[in-house]
Amino acid sequence: MSNIRFNALQTVLSRTIPEIKPPSPKISDFFGANVFDKKKMKQYLSTEAYESIIESIEQGVPIEREVADQVASAMKAWAISKDATHYTHWFQPLTGTTAEKHDAFFEMTADGAMEKFSGNALAQQEPDASSFPSGGIRNTFEARGYTAWDPSSPAFIMGRTLCIPTVFVSYTGEALDYKAPLLKALHALDKAAVDICQYFDKSIEKVHASLGIEQEYFLVDLALFNARPDLYLTGRTLFGHMSAKNQQLEDHYFGSIPTRVYAFMQDFENEALQLGIPVKTRHNEVAPSQFECAPIFEEINLAIDHNQLLTDIMDRVGKRHNFKVLLHEKPYAGVNGSGKHNNWSMVTNTGKNLLSPGKTPKSNLMFLTFFVNTIKAVYEHADILRASIASVNNDHRLGANEAPPAIISIFLGSQLSDVLDEIETSRISKKAKVEALLWQGIPKIPQILQDNTDRNRTSPFAFTGNKFELRAVGSSANSANPMTILNLIVADQLKKFKVDVDKLLKKGEKKDVALLTIIKRYIKESKAIRFEGNGYSEEWEKLAAERDLPNIKTTPKALDALITEKAQNVFETTGVFSRREAHARHEILLDDFYKKLQIEARVMGELVNSVIIPAGITYQSKLVENVRGLKEIGLDESTYSAQVDIIKRIADHINFIKTNTEEMVEERKKANAIDDTREKAIAYDEKVKPYFDGIRYHVDKLEQLVDDSLWPLPKFRELLFIK
Ligand code: ADP
Ligand code: MG
Repeated sequence: MSNIRFNALQTVLSRTIPEIKPPSPKISDFFGANVFDKKKMKQYLSTEAYESIIESIEQGVPIEREVADQVASAMKAWAISKDATHYTHWFQPLTGTTAEKHDAFFEMTADGAMEKFSGNALAQQEPDASSFPSGGIRNTFEARGYTAWDPSSPAFIMGRTLCIPTVFVSYTGEALDYKAPLLKALHALDKAAVDICQYFDKSIEKVHASLGIEQEYFLVDLALFNARPDLYLTGRTLFGHMSAKNQQLEDHYFGSIPTRVYAFMQDFENEALQLGIPVKTRHNEVAPSQFECAPIFEEINLAIDHNQLLTDIMDRVGKRHNFKVLLHEKPYAGVNGSGKHNNWSMVTNTGKNLLSPGKTPKSNLMFLTFFVNTIKAVYEHADILRASIASVNNDHRLGANEAPPAIISIFLGSQLSDVLDEIETSRISKKAKVEALLWQGIPKIPQILQDNTDRNRTSPFAFTGNKFELRAVGSSANSANPMTILNLIVADQLKKFKVDVDKLLKKGEKKDVALLTIIKRYIKESKAIRFEGNGYSEEWEKLAAERDLPNIKTTPKALDALITEKAQNVFETTGVFSRREAHARHEILLDDFYKKLQIEARVMGELVNSVIIPAGITYQSKLVENVRGLKEIGLDESTYSAQVDIIKRIADHINFIKTNTEEMVEERKKANAIDDTREKAIAYDEKVKPYFDGIRYHVDKLEQLVDDSLWPLPKFRELLFIK
């Protein structure tokens, strides 16, 4: 037995588990050791330079040339003391991964070789970037792209390279990455939220968004992974009969972590902690060999950089443990897929969480303001929020009766639903003299809300005590995309709220009455987005349709939302995307969609023709030989009728697989001939992709029929359980 599958299984059996130790028993001893954080800045910079850079970071003001030079030289000194030889601008192009191009510190001067790093090199680089996706923004004649330093995310050392977080923009100033628009959206939110905070507390000068990302992933042994061309080329299994045992016993979730996995987790967490990523929680997830890692929440820009970095680290450390980390949203049909829950809130410079109900009626009014405006924003722009999480991978989850549905709705939990209902129907007393009498029947908001976190896992956007949790984000997505949208729509909504409130104030209305009047109106207007029931149910689909909520199940059509007049308006008024940028992004996303399907379709065709059908035929030939032998020695038909039956069934499956694969190839050719990217993506989605299920069904039947020793692809029972 020496097919590729058995070799891989042999390899798995020979794995040993390394012993992993933290650099020190106390995490606080080594946390952030590889980050050029404030503490190190203070140590390496003059007091003047230190104060100046901190001010720039906190106020978002440009950094003076001289300060940049000093920071660069300090960074270099620190990096060299940590054995770094190179530096790189680290950025997040629209490919979904991170990019870096390393340069050595060393330079040749008249006096010979020297280590150098100037403020210029820190602030800006021009990577030869003509092959990053730009959606037509960058023509070849203006192929230059620039990376520019983002001082709000500290530099860090990976291997022997100093990495400097940067944005990536085109020569003409358009964003070519995820970070630049995110920073713009955060700026818009800061401004809009501070303006609203002024109604309540004049001392608030800055509002930032906070984010905690729960990252789900699968692990598979590297040898098995390498024996599955579909897995390593597309990130998911295109074939494979479900294992007899999968997740039905629910024995994996929160179960004890397999020893091999535990070693891997400790190892990557140690690296992550040294890079200042506050990883805190680890556990098994629902599907076999599915796990989760969650850090403590941070300022959102940092949280997203850290999530990108974390997945890089996991991948790299995974290889040391002979694991492949699967970040695909749906690596295995039939068991749960993976997401990336985005826990989001807003925090003031005074340390107040704006989505946390307070003690006094005044602070509750403040909470209600931000709470209700977020609900209204999501109601108004559910379609672009949906578009922001759309991808070919996530289509396997959204609307596919698992994970959140494609309909964006908000779950509040019964307590807060009651509060909003009460406000909606109560009367505002305009004559109120005493604050407590302002409302007739103002509901009390309990300070500690019941934790509704896990009570409604079917909701894509749930309020969980002191934050909203966007659960629909795919596990492989860059959170910057949905978070840019969420922050910009909330910013836009808060601006509108201010206009509405100020109008009433101008009319002579009391401040609290004005605030409450608008809150009440928004509660009414956005009611349709609230849903407390089962988001997977058919009733909800019907109800959502009655409520006119968008329910677009596939990516190419969901993406249309990005280029509507309404979307372009909100992008422009918040200053996050120009029209050109929005169109470019739309194009890039469509491109990504059809190309990934194209690759899947090709891999499917190749595997069917060169691996699966041959395996079926080999077994069939053995049976034919057997039947011939039985005949030869004079036995009658009854002795080989079972064999004949199997021979026929194999033939049926092979025929189906072959004709359908050929038809799929024809549809692919037709789709490839389409020029318009949207039409092409739709053709791939509606004409090519539908063949996948049928072909797969028959391949999986064949897998069950063919002699196990002849089947060359690792089976689900082997992939899904970690030994
Ligand atoms: P679960 O959602 O599984 O119940 P938790 O609520 O403890 O788990 O936290 C999930 C994630 O939400 C963690 O990353 C946590 O740090 C983060 N989180 C908690 N509070 C906030 C907040 N105010 N803003 C953003 N993220 C938060
Ligand atoms: Mg959660």
